[in-house]
Amino acid sequence: VTLEHDLAAIVGGQHVLVDPDLRASYEVDWSGRFKGTARCVVRPADTQQVVSVLRACAADGVPVTVQGGNTGLVGGGVPAGGEVLLSLVRLDQLEPVDAVAAQVSVGAGVRLEALQRHAKAAGFDFGVDLAARSAATVGGLVATNAGGIRVVRYGSMRAQLVGLEAVLADGTVLSRLAPPAKDNTGYDWPQLLCGSEGTLAVITKVRVRLVEPSTERAVALVGVADTAAALALLAQARRRFTTLGAAEIFYADGLSLVRSVNALPAPFDDSFAAYVILEAFGNKPTDEILDLLSECDAVGDATVASDPVGRTRLWAYRESHTEAINTAGVPVKLDVCVPMGSLVALVDQLPSTVTDAAPSSRLIVFGHLNEGNLHVNVLGAGERAEAVTDAVLKLVASHGGSISSEHGVGRAKTQWLTLSRSAEEIETMRRLKNALDPQNLLNPNVLLPPP
Ligand SMILES: Cc1cc2nc3c(=O)[nH]c(=O)nc-3n(C[C@H](O)[C@H](O)[C@H](O)COP(=O)(O)OP(=O)(O)OC[C@H]3O[C@@H](n4cnc5c(N)ncnc54)[C@H](O)[C@@H]3O)c2cc1C
Repeated sequence: VTLEHDLAAIVGGQHVLVDPDLRASYEVDWSGRFKGTARCVVRPADTQQVVSVLRACAADGVPVTVQGGNTGLVGGGVPAGGEVLLSLVRLDQLEPVDAVAAQVSVGAGVRLEALQRHAKAAGFDFGVDLAARSAATVGGLVATNAGGIRVVRYGSMRAQLVGLEAVLADGTVLSRLAPPAKDNTGYDWPQLLCGSEGTLAVITKVRVRLVEPSTERAVALVGVADTAAALALLAQARRRFTTLGAAEIFYADGLSLVRSVNALPAPFDDSFAAYVILEAFGNKPTDEILDLLSECDAVGDATVASDPVGRTRLWAYRESHTEAINTAGVPVKLDVCVPMGSLVALVDQLPSTVTDAAPSSRLIVFGHLNEGNLHVNVLGAGERAEAVTDAVLKLVASHGGSISSEHGVGRAKTQWLTLSRSAEEIETMRRLKNALDPQNLLNPNVLLPPP
C-alpha cells in the first residue's frame, strides 16, 4: 500500500492531487522564482485529518511542505522536491466573534480578507492588513509573523495572536486556543510558533484579538525630495497624530512602473524622487492631515482623500508595486530593515551595490517607512541573483539591520541567516527544531541553514 493510498483514505481521493497539472499551481511560489516537485498535494478538511496525514508521513519518513495561501515571497511554502505538500486551505471555519473579549477563533486556512469581513460584520476590525489579503491565510500570517501596512498602529501578527491549535510532526495536537487573559504557567509556545515558518508544527486554528473599527480615515499621497524629507514628514506626523494608521514610501522608478502596468495617471504635475502615503484614523483625520501638510516644509506636493474610492485610488500607487514588479519579470525580492538613522544611507548605497553585483538589472524599492522596512526588488539579475542577494544583505548587516523583516527566511535566505543571528542563536533554534521534529520532516529546507 502506498502513502498516496493511505492519504486518500484519510482525506478522500479527490483531495490527494497526484496529476502534475493539478499539482502545478501549488509547486511554484507567487513570484515565480521558487519551484519544486511535490510527491503529491494533500488537502485535509480538519485537525483530525491533519493529525492522520502527519502520522502517515512520519511512519514513512516522508518530509512535508506546509502551505497556506502560497503568497509567501521567500519560497518557504513550495516543495524542494519529493515532499508531500500539505495544503491547509480547507481549514476555513469562521467561529462566531466573542464580542466581550473582542476575539475570534478561525481555521488556519481562512483568508485574511474573509477574517476582515467577518470581524467587520460583528462591529470590529482586524489589525493586520496587506496587499495579498484575498489569498494569504491566517495560518500563513502567523507562521511568518506577517507585518503589512498597519504595523504602525496595531503591531504585526504576533501582537494579534491570542491562542493556537497546532499539530506536531508526530501527530501530537497542542491546543491553547483561548487561554485566560492572565496566565504565566510556562513557555508561551503559540508565540514560539509565530514566525517559525512551518518548521516546528502545523498550525490548524488561530485565535486573534480584534480591534475597534475606525469610523473615519483620511489618506494623503505626498511628493517629497528624498528619503530624508520623507523621514522629516514621518517625524512630524508621529508627533501630530495620535492615530497614525500607516506610513509607506515608494520612489520615482516604482511609480513609473506601476503607472505603466496599471495605466494610472500621474499623481502630480511635477515629479518627485520619493512619495509617502500617510493614513490617519479617528477624530477629524482629514483636518489633521491638512494641518500637517500645511506646516511641514518637507512636503513638495500632496493630495488627500477621505472617501473610500479616493482612498483606494491613492493606495493603489503603493499597493500595486508587488504585482507590477511581477508583471515586469521574476524579481529577486529582499525585505530588509535598518535602524532609522541608517535608512538614508541605505537608500543612497543600494543603486551602486545592486549595479556592481548585477550590471544590467533594474532596482525598485518601496516599503513600510515607519519601521525602516524596505522591500528591495531587483529585476533582470538573471544568473547574478545570488550575487545581488549577497551584496544587498551584507550592506544591510553592515548597518546593523535585519536580512528579513517580515517575509521570513524561507528557502531564499537560509545561507545568509548568520548575518542576522549569532551561531549560538542558530544552534539553539536547531535544538528546538530537533526537540519538536526529531525526524526533520516539517519544511526541512526552510529557515535553518544546513548543519
Ligand atoms: C502582493 C503581496 C503583498 C504582500 N505584502 C506583505 C506585507 O505587506 N507584509 C508581509 O509581512 N508579507 C507580505 N506578503 C507576503 C505574504 O503575503 C505573507 O508572508 C503571508 O503571511 C503568507 O501567508 P500564506 O497563507 O500565503 O502562506 P504561504 O505562502 O502558503 O506560506 C508561508 C510560510 O508559512 C508556512 N505556513 C503556511 N501556513 C501554515 C500553517 N497553517 N502552519 C504552519 N506553517 C504554515 C509555510 O510553510 C511557509 O513557510 C505579500 C505577498 C504578496 C503576494
